[in-house]
Amino acid sequence: IKELQLAMLENDVALEVAERICDDIRKEIRGKFVRKGKIEELIKHALRNAMLDAMKQDSMDIEGMVKKKDGPFTIIFLGFNGTGKSTTIAKFAHKFRKYNPILAAADTFRAASIEQIEIHGQRVGARVVKHGYGSDAAAVIFDAKKAALASGSKLVLADTAGRSHSNVNLMDELKKIVRVNSPDLKILVLDSITGNDIFDQCRLFNDAVGIDAIILTKADVYDKGGSALSAAHTLKKPILYLGVGQEYDDLKEFSPEEIVDSLLA
Ligand code: GDP
Repeated sequence: IKELQLAMLENDVALEVAERICDDIRKEIRGKFVRKGKIEELIKHALRNAMLDAMKQDSMDIEGMVKKKDGPFTIIFLGFNGTGKSTTIAKFAHKFRKYNPILAAADTFRAASIEQIEIHGQRVGARVVKHGYGSDAAAVIFDAKKAALASGSKLVLADTAGRSHSNVNLMDELKKIVRVNSPDLKILVLDSITGNDIFDQCRLFNDAVGIDAIILTKADVYDKGGSALSAAHTLKKPILYLGVGQEYDDLKEFSPEEIVDSLLA
């Protein structure tokens, strides 16, 4: 089991998660009668089950939820800077284009972020609602919802400023965004390359506003799978998609089996 824990760490599973999974395996096999030579098989089987268990959360039918909602369905995308929030929003807008998504440029903090989301909006044919830099992010999303209601759009996709542990003001702003707009979903966007810090990122956002689902980006450049396991195990929420490139079609359904196979390979 020690070897397994090391192997998980080498695949960038967060330390806390690797430890907990090993504890689960110990519990599962303790007291079991095993034939000589079959121990390794038993442990591998227990590991596979523990990993699949962690990643098999109740699936989420986004399209069904959008259709069912009376009025515009609002999704807020959260995460650290550079994880791929705005690119993922554009991919989402492209995927769900038949619902005429409106993009809310609610990262009013980082220079060029509004222009960036506008360019994405033009490219995927989605309208963008924006205010100026330094303006109230909650109000931008509020206006985007109003615009969606007026135009019959069924979907509002909101960008937000990238935040980290030290941005107390930005975390307060995030709480306000959620309080004012009661979003239908809060999706945490995580970069697959993050490694051990993914555990802290999950906790930070979940403690602040509660996370409903996860998207992992850059799985095309980094496919060890450890971050998927860490994120799902920490939050116990579904991973909806993997970002697998910089094109708007590069959003892939998440498959726990695929990740487990790559982790056990
Ligand atoms: P934000 O700061 O969170 O909004 O991040 P951006 O959306 O600006 O993305 C940061 C960088 O990551 C950009 O260069 C994106 O093109 C790139 N990126 C985002 N998602 C993916 C992905 O799934 N794969 C790859 N290879 N690059 C991505």
